[in-house]
Amino acid sequence: MKIRGEIWKQYGRCRGKNQSIFFPEHKGNSTERLAKKICEECPVRVLCYRYAMLNEEQGIWGGTNDQERAMHKAMIEMTGFTVPQYLQQVVPPPVEVELNFSVG
Ligand code: SF4
Repeated sequence: MKIRGEIWKQYGRCRGKNQSIFFPEHKGNSTERLAKKICEECPVRVLCYRYAMLNEEQGIWGGTNDQERAMHKAMIEMTGFTVPQYLQQVVPPPVEVELNFSVG
């Protein structure tokens, strides 16, 4: 399922930056840490994370890499948490947004 309406991308802190930062060659390297640092204060972080979770994107989205998001999906499926409940544990939303969606 693709999310329509990607206007939030205009507000990302990554806008105008070298996009290769967000697709590091190796997990956990300095490039990935730099990307995650940029994401930390991004006002659309939650929407970005949600988009990546639904669309199975690669690279850094919402301050997470694809491996981490795969683990989050597995945890959501195992625990029966909703995504909003799970996000409260791992990615405290910087803004109040509607997060209800399902994965899988
Ligand atoms: S959370 Fe990170 S990757 Fe997503 S829009 Fe913001 S800065 Fe860009």
